[in-house]
Amino acid sequence: MSSKVPPIILNNGVEMPQLGFGVWQVPDGEAEQAVATALEAGYRSIDTAAIYGNEEGTGRAIAGSGVPREELFVTTKLWNSDQGYDATLRAFDVSLEKLGLEYLDLYLIHWPTPARDLYVDSYKAFEKLYADGRVRAVGVSNFLTEHLERLIAETSVVPAVDQIELHPHLQQNAAREFLAGQGIATEAWSPLGQGKGLLEVPAIVAIARKHDRTPAQVVLRWHVQLGNVVIPKSVTPSRIRENIEVFDFSLDTEDLAAISALDEDRRLGSHPAHFNGG
Ligand code: NDP
Repeated sequence: MSSKVPPIILNNGVEMPQLGFGVWQVPDGEAEQAVATALEAGYRSIDTAAIYGNEEGTGRAIAGSGVPREELFVTTKLWNSDQGYDATLRAFDVSLEKLGLEYLDLYLIHWPTPARDLYVDSYKAFEKLYADGRVRAVGVSNFLTEHLERLIAETSVVPAVDQIELHPHLQQNAAREFLAGQGIATEAWSPLGQGKGLLEVPAIVAIARKHDRTPAQVVLRWHVQLGNVVIPKSVTPSRIRENIEVFDFSLDTEDLAAISALDEDRRLGSHPAHFNGG
């Protein structure tokens, strides 16, 4: 089955599906079923990370899916304690082995962890992996403008992607503008605001009723119209299927304005300037 999801073109010409499937907090034993359901529903992009502990389950689902490797877009992330040039190269091999893949589509530095001061060295290892053809695109996650400015000044491959927390309560307009100016794609993590309060906000529920859609579909459609890459997570088959059905309707100017008004600069996760864990 070909994907229902249109691609965006990364700054090196590689195509990345605009909507993918996130697997944070999915235990390894459940990841195989969840990813298999997503692949059956038409998802072709999967977002995992070494720290999620489910690269093996994800890899089993990929292997069992019958989807040709070249139709898939697989992302994983370098964990904080593996930062540093040599440690990064070793961690990449471990992730690839767990996923059972010959190459990766996108490798991200999970957090800048500024107190370690190793993200430039780690990224230089990414550049080697990229030059060696072992990953089709390299990028970062949770990088603020200051981290990206330093990275761009001290390395030669501009990151293809910055994956950051982004949802209607944290719209990240300044970051999005900066990333667009640098040719870096904005990828939204926790795009549904982790699914709780956000999907009950009256303005979102009203827009959903107006279009005969669900609140989650409205939020995902908002991301798509902004140009974000999105990676909603669900372990519920009906939701997995629902979340990819967002390419056959549009929000109008009034809907977009109502969602714009929900920005509260409210983070659910850690602040990248201060998070040095792991
Ligand atoms: P999401 O915003 O994707 O929300 C997931 C939650 O929403 C789950 O509890 C899920 O429930 C629920 N949900 C999903 N679809 C629906 C629906 N249609 N209706 C109602 N509820 C729904 O949160 P995540 O934090 O998981 O973010 C998505 C992905 O982003 C992660 O899986 C991961 O890949 C990535 N991420 C990256 C981070 C980083 O530091 N780079 C940090 C955090 C996330 P259920 O599963 O029970 O169906």
